[in-house]
Amino acid sequence: MDIKGLIDCHTHCKFSPDGRDEPSELVKSAQQLDLKAIAITDHCECNTWFEPEHYGIDSSKADADDIIMYNCKSFHLASIQPMKELVRQSFGELAVIHGVELGQPLQAPEIADEIVGDEELDYVIGSLHNNSGMLDFYYLRFDEMSPQQINSLLGDYFEQVLQMCEWGAFDILGHLTYPLRYICGKYNISVDTDCYKDTIVQIFKTLISNNKGIEINTSGLFTDLKKTMPDAKLVKLYRELGGEIISIGSDAHCAEDVGRGAALGAELAKECGFDRAAYFIKHKPVFVKL
Ligand SMILES: [Zn+2]
Ligand SMILES: [Zn+2]
Repeated sequence: MDIKGLIDCHTHCKFSPDGRDEPSELVKSAQQLDLKAIAITDHCECNTWFEPEHYGIDSSKADADDIIMYNCKSFHLASIQPMKELVRQSFGELAVIHGVELGQPLQAPEIADEIVGDEELDYVIGSLHNNSGMLDFYYLRFDEMSPQQINSLLGDYFEQVLQMCEWGAFDILGHLTYPLRYICGKYNISVDTDCYKDTIVQIFKTLISNNKGIEINTSGLFTDLKKTMPDAKLVKLYRELGGEIISIGSDAHCAEDVGRGAALGAELAKECGFDRAAYFIKHKPVFVKL
């Protein structure tokens, strides 16, 4: 599908613990696709910022998969100079943006403040991958939970996203409904997001009044969820409440996934009443026509 002129504002390179490729390889993919903008947004997970031992975990005894997202700090520090050099170069029509995906800022607010205080950063995605005191939704066994337990976890998730939006030191809210990727996708358990509508409305109103936006994260289209995060129903709700700032992100973790789903994301945005999407330079939205 032709995605010329579109944007991918959520990608990970080797400076994420679960990323692989050089940032220049992601940029090359974006150039080949004729994108208008690519943002490289490596993981800054505030609650696993340090090495596992800092949190009392013996990494020699832990499963490698369980501790993969620890020590984001060393990845982030290694990224700063190469990313600065990369974004200083000219790529013609393509805007290359130095961003971060800030995970769980309120679970270590002093670390979050330090990261977002970097004036070189153009763009911050605010994400929640785990409820406070719990593991990433990726690890949770939803098949062993009662519907009430799942309901309570999701209620907490949306409440904690709302608190993060009230804190607000980011540009775009990342992949709202992330837990559904596992609950509905991996475990095939249906969820009606209407049960959380009051909180979701509060989330959107808070973002709108602070001039922040949401992303249409297209990675879910290629998992068993088969939907964007959030889906069309919620993107429409955001629009009806007056939302104007929307971004599109593949959440690529390798160069060949850059731009994946961007055309579908743009189509969905249009169906929901958007005729433009935004990328960010120095935290200011730059709009591209859809
Ligand atoms: Zn994420
Ligand atoms: Zn991501």
